[in-house]
Amino acid sequence: MLLHWIDVLYYARYANPDPYRRLERTEEEWKELLSPAQYHVMREKGTERAFKNAYCRSFESGIYVCRGCGSSLFSSEEKSHKLAGWPSFRQPVAKGAMKYAFDNSHGMSRIEVACNVCDSHLGHVFPDGPEPARLRYCINSESMERLEESKLQLLMDEQPASVSSAGSSTR
Ligand SMILES: [Zn+2]
Repeated sequence: MLLHWIDVLYYARYANPDPYRRLERTEEEWKELLSPAQYHVMREKGTERAFKNAYCRSFESGIYVCRGCGSSLFSSEEKSHKLAGWPSFRQPVAKGAMKYAFDNSHGMSRIEVACNVCDSHLGHVFPDGPEPARLRYCINSESMERLEESKLQLLMDEQPASVSSAGSSTR
């Protein structure tokens, strides 16, 4: 089942999908784990520079995982090949992988996307993506690491809530 804008609005307004696990760290632990640039994006909701980031021009195959907790976020198969300032994706790897919130900062009305496991800021999602679901996840490279799929098989097996099989039962 594909996520659509109406699902994103529902999550932001009422209730986010359940995470398949939770991970919390103290501020000291985050500062030790992350580089200053990663900390700024992930824990202070910063935005990295357009085009000067690791993955906006990278189209190798793999799974993008959260730098804060290692949870799978996006597959390279859902990555847009249209060059944009930041890596952008059509769908997440699982419905419960991320959480959504209204963000009215910087004079804009947007929907923020964060990791559903460790709450790290990832980026924003917009309703102007390609058919069929029309979502465009615009994500900071600093928040993610791309891993080869083979290294992730074990982890993926532990994530039952995939977008394709989860249906709408978690609401
Ligand atoms: Zn995370």
